[in-house]
Amino acid sequence: MAKTKYVFVTGGVTSSLGKGIISASLGRLLQARGYRVTIQKLDPYINVDPGTLNPYEHGECYVTDDGAETDLDLGHYERFLDIQTSQANNVTTGRIYQSVINKERRGDYLGKTVQVIPHITDEIKHRITLLGKRGNYDIIITEIGGTVGDIESLSYVEAVRQLRWDLGSENTVYIHLTLVPFLSASGELKTKPTQHSVKVLLENGIQPDVLVLRTEHELDKDIRKKVALFCNVGLEAVIQSIDVSTIYEVPLLMQEENLDRTILNKLNLPTSDSVTLKPWKEFVSKLKSASEVVEVALVGKYVELYDSYKSIMEATTHAGAVNGAKVIVHCIHSETITRENVEEELSGFDGMIVAPGFGDRGIEGKILAVQYARENRIPFLGICLGLQCAVIEFARNVLGYKDAHSTEMTNITKHPVIDLMEEQKGVTEKGGTMRLGGYPCDLKKESHAYRAYKKENIRERHRHRYEFNNDFLEEYEKNGMIATGINPESCLVEIMEQPGHPWFLGTQFHPEYNSTVLNPHPLFVHFIKATLENKND
Ligand code: GLN
Repeated sequence: MAKTKYVFVTGGVTSSLGKGIISASLGRLLQARGYRVTIQKLDPYINVDPGTLNPYEHGECYVTDDGAETDLDLGHYERFLDIQTSQANNVTTGRIYQSVINKERRGDYLGKTVQVIPHITDEIKHRITLLGKRGNYDIIITEIGGTVGDIESLSYVEAVRQLRWDLGSENTVYIHLTLVPFLSASGELKTKPTQHSVKVLLENGIQPDVLVLRTEHELDKDIRKKVALFCNVGLEAVIQSIDVSTIYEVPLLMQEENLDRTILNKLNLPTSDSVTLKPWKEFVSKLKSASEVVEVALVGKYVELYDSYKSIMEATTHAGAVNGAKVIVHCIHSETITRENVEEELSGFDGMIVAPGFGDRGIEGKILAVQYARENRIPFLGICLGLQCAVIEFARNVLGYKDAHSTEMTNITKHPVIDLMEEQKGVTEKGGTMRLGGYPCDLKKESHAYRAYKKENIRERHRHRYEFNNDFLEEYEKNGMIATGINPESCLVEIMEQPGHPWFLGTQFHPEYNSTVLNPHPLFVHFIKATLENKND
């Protein structure tokens, strides 16, 4: 079997240039040429995984099917490539050090001084090449988080420098992504930051093979020549990445710039002309030509940072394209919703999503929002904590249990309609201990869920500690809120619906993690369809 080849992606000048999107776009293009591709993210922070990070700091925590809590870039990889990623696709400094220190305690390095080079760099190299050893991939794209020159990324840069020698130059390519800023005062694009950033890489022993330049304005041939000359790369290896209105256009622009061909040439791999990008192009054209507009309220408490609900935002975009609608999501801070202003805050939306979350801050606002959607027959999708709020609201306002609550929020309720899962009762550590990853779920035939999925057995990803308390199920079902999705092994309730409402559905799992460009998630597709119907009613 041919050796797996590696593309290493670093970033310079500033963070947030979109390395994840460039990596995912390149992955998509290589896949469209028939290569088996996956993408891996190396994160320089010391948390073992982002599960313990506040979404304000780092955006959403993305959960893979195998139950890993990972960086949100893995969400882009899955959405663009329509593949499943796993724990092996995300490595953090915390995880690297944890495993080196565990080995040291076990005595694996007896007699040796344990050092950054070679022990930490060897562990990084081991993690990078692990995915390649499985023989499932022709090309692995490895994205290094942070910016070159940061103290935190040094050991990663050193590890990938060494990998060129370990794997051979025909099996490795270095891409460096930088910014070409536009100075409006002089009306000029500036290449100096790129030159400096490449110098920093050179100081670390890496000569980039390809430069991707993020820019707000077209880069003319002279600028490209200048960058090529100063940075030691061929003119064809200077790639422009201009700002676009949707991230889903980036693969098409990268193809115009020949990024995929340039990479394949450097890897000595054939570049046939058969590129299967038709479904992708169709998606982008549907997205851009959507004629209807639907406005959806997303009620949550991490609304200040757009990235906190990344996968939900993207899933609504996918579902909008399928329905020929542009979905505008309005983030509403649940803490600001009160009984007095709920009408003013929430009227006029075509649909409502109540977001996942943890802790009691903003919980009453979410419950008021659910009540508003239920009573005003607004299409409603509750995700994880969103479902739990729908369950609490129903208990309080329909079943008449005024003190009903989740035991995550209070211990003094006689009606704990949401309660800690049995297997969570002895758990004291916070990191990686929730119910995580994919679990099966059986659907009831007469339900919105079944109509959306069109099958009885599904599998969806989870991230929670609390669950619907089955002691109350009979009473819910008698009064109009029924469980339409159940885990066949544990009998945990996975989906609840209100059949008397046009479209009211809550999921204990996170459907948003499974929505991709080529396979938009059926629940989001049907939810957006319901919002369209509501709008045009
Ligand atoms: N906090 C709730 C729980 O742990 C919901 C979690 C979530 O929304 N992801 O069960």
